[in-house]
Amino acid sequence: MAEHPGHSGTRDAEPMSGNWNENPPWVVPVPTDEDREFFEGASRGELRIQRCDECGLHQHYPRYLCSHCGSTEVKWVTASGVGTVYSFTVIRQNGVPPFRERLPFVVAAVDLEETGARLVASMPGADPAQVAIGMQVRATFRSVGEGIGLVDFA
Ligand SMILES: [Zn+2]
Repeated sequence: MAEHPGHSGTRDAEPMSGNWNENPPWVVPVPTDEDREFFEGASRGELRIQRCDECGLHQHYPRYLCSHCGSTEVKWVTASGVGTVYSFTVIRQNGVPPFRERLPFVVAAVDLEETGARLVASMPGADPAQVAIGMQVRATFRSVGEGIGLVDFA
């Protein structure tokens, strides 16, 4: 039986490949009134999240209501970009370009230092063997369209 060509039996020692700055139309978000500030902020190099005036907690993804207390008093703030890996996975299979060319890569759930906000994001520069729960990470920004950016972590 032939061995799967992508399985070498070694650890993921190589840095990630693929061009993370080539973004075909199907990976570019189409912002709504609710989340436009997040994507436009990312295109400016700002991590925009929401803070609730009622309970003081933060949230992500963007919503009209506070996910912690239900208040409508949510306001946009700029986060520091510093966070901690809450959990992560290593994507090893994906047949769709451009993801196919980026394998393997890490997708992490990151708790921001602004209490209450957790983002799920890619870690394009990360060696999967080096990522660990609890490690400190920092937001990076990637433009994917006219005035539209994505948030990654490194
Ligand atoms: Zn609240």
